[in-house]
Amino acid sequence: MSEEARRIARATLPEGLRRETLAVRTALAPSQHGENSEALFLTSAYVQPDAETSAQRFSNSEDFTYSRTSNPTVRSLEARLAALEGTEGAIATSTGMSAILLLGMGVLKTGDHVVCSRSVFGSTINLFAKEFGKFGVETSFVSQTDLAEWRAAVRPGSTKLFFAETPTNPLTEVCDIRALAGLAHDAGAILAVDNTYSTPALQRPAEMGADIVMHSATKYMDGQGRVMAGALCGPDKLVRDVFAPILRTVGMTLAPFNAWVVLKGLETLSLRMKAQSEQALAVARWLEAQPEVDRVYYPSLASHPQHDLAMRQQSGQGGAVLSFDLKADSPEAARAAAFHVIDSTRVLSIATNLGDTKSIITHPATTSHGRLTEAQRQAAGIGQGLIRLAVGLEHVDDITDDLLRGLSTLTTR
Ligand SMILES: *Cc1c(COP(=O)(O)O)cnc(C)c1O
Repeated sequence: MSEEARRIARATLPEGLRRETLAVRTALAPSQHGENSEALFLTSAYVQPDAETSAQRFSNSEDFTYSRTSNPTVRSLEARLAALEGTEGAIATSTGMSAILLLGMGVLKTGDHVVCSRSVFGSTINLFAKEFGKFGVETSFVSQTDLAEWRAAVRPGSTKLFFAETPTNPLTEVCDIRALAGLAHDAGAILAVDNTYSTPALQRPAEMGADIVMHSATKYMDGQGRVMAGALCGPDKLVRDVFAPILRTVGMTLAPFNAWVVLKGLETLSLRMKAQSEQALAVARWLEAQPEVDRVYYPSLASHPQHDLAMRQQSGQGGAVLSFDLKADSPEAARAAAFHVIDSTRVLSIATNLGDTKSIITHPATTSHGRLTEAQRQAAGIGQGLIRLAVGLEHVDDITDDLLRGLSTLTTR
């Protein structure tokens, strides 16, 4: 055994490992100390052995010189993300939103056009409509599920990007990734998919033709609600040649500590996604049987309008987010009922986040969708009686008991 091999044990992995193994094992080689858990490199600069080596490393962006441009802990996370999504590369960013900013800076310029679902995350809509709009990039917002609208929105020659998110928040609407990839490529554009809700544990958009897979790693990848992080996964010709040079200049770099937390989160991702999806399905079925509940939105239910597509696309799992509408005669009564159910909980967290082991209950109409007008909310299907649940890992009976406290004492029906 060479001296180098003796110092760095098990520096390389065999070919053909399965995704669960890659989630635990993919990383840069350990340091000379042989640590079994990947090291956290909290350093802004890297000492160079001599001026000549320093000159070489500064001319090769793959080498470690300064942590805005590269850091070993961040690099380990990027390697693990790419392995899970099945893409050539991945680049980590400070938040999910900065990943979309990086995407836009990389593939759009003044005069270009974007086609985007109108049901995507609210800040994503603002970023495309307002911020990119300032630089002369126009975005058409279309139906999440009607492919004809996507096709009709294309402006030949100027449409450069299709942006989709599936399933959506809070109504869990599902779009057909394979079909959108076909439409985008016919138009000479690329398809980017926000895979935050399903994660590669359930859904791998690159396998269905998406060019870029975007993540808010703040959610299920961290998995315990601790840090903010984001990523773009895709081919080297975009990740390494286009996005990496921009990130090095602009600096939406992921902090090493946050990268380390997410790296560790990925090791349990597939277990958590399976368990939380199963719990969400149990809660969704229970809610469907409650007389106070008008409708439940969850992809694994046969009543979901894109049930078959969702099951094909998401490894037969619905994910951990569901929503339900309460019966009520007026928007005022609906809001009072929703507030009563939310305020009657003793276990669930009243918050606006998801992807945590702690279940979270949210009133979309007054939080995530609070800035829309009532008419816009009606058009989006977000009524005052709608409640979103991001199901965590508490015992499922404690979750349903917590909901029953409010449902069984409603007086507004
Ligand atoms: C949270 C979220 C984002 C934004 O991510 P941040 O990490 O909060 O910046 C984007 N898309 C989806 C679907 C999200 O849930």
